[in-house]
Amino acid sequence: MIDNNYKLWEEQDKLKNIEKKANQNHIPIIDKETANILKTVVLIKKPKLILEIGTAIGYSTLWLAKFSPQFSEIVTIERNEDLLNMALKNIKDFGYEDKVNFKFGQAEEIIPYFRRRFDFVFIDAAKGQYLNLFKKVQEKISDNGIIICDNVFYKGLVRKNNKLAHKIRTIVVNMRDFLHYLEENDDFHTEIIDLADGISVSRRRNKDEKSRTFGTGR
Ligand code: SAH
Ligand code: MG
Repeated sequence: MIDNNYKLWEEQDKLKNIEKKANQNHIPIIDKETANILKTVVLIKKPKLILEIGTAIGYSTLWLAKFSPQFSEIVTIERNEDLLNMALKNIKDFGYEDKVNFKFGQAEEIIPYFRRRFDFVFIDAAKGQYLNLFKKVQEKISDNGIIICDNVFYKGLVRKNNKLAHKIRTIVVNMRDFLHYLEENDDFHTEIIDLADGISVSRRRNKDEKSRTFGTGR
């Protein structure tokens, strides 16, 4: 009992340290709310194979690793080598290295090579590329598999009408296109959750279910 509590406190301390380091170095990490959604969905879904796009220093990876069953395998993709090395160190520090498979490179180039289907995907990469990434990954999802995307309101800008610098505007326009695509995509049932910076939760419909849907399929 005492040992368990000690381990819990030690882990919490270590997690706090990673949060602090990320904030100091302007490395993005998921909000508490996103973390709790990942935790909840992974606890309920018990996914065998998990894909994460955008590892950074492995903070969200830790949440996925901690709350997924022991049999789960997590594949996580990051295009920044320095960040990926830090992630590797963090995952080792928590003892989850056997569960996590790190891939270095551009996700859009790596995804087509996957042969297995994922039960759960977490997308938290370049915000202008979500549509592209979702399209690449959607064929690799098992029936009833889930795709969660972080920051779909992109700092709240997706729902505002501000004048924006060109680069930011492009990201906002792309994100709006992505949300429309989700809305019209009958292969998935999607909910947009108004928490943190906007989180989309999409579940892949299975074939039986599709033939039984009415109207727009919502
Ligand atoms: N999920 C992390 C934070 C990720 S920040 C956490 O919550 O802890 C987004 C990361 O995605 C950045 O490190 C960036 O380098 C990476 N990234 C962005 N676009 C990518 C792409 N197309 N392929 C691979 N990595 C990408
Ligand atoms: Mg994010």
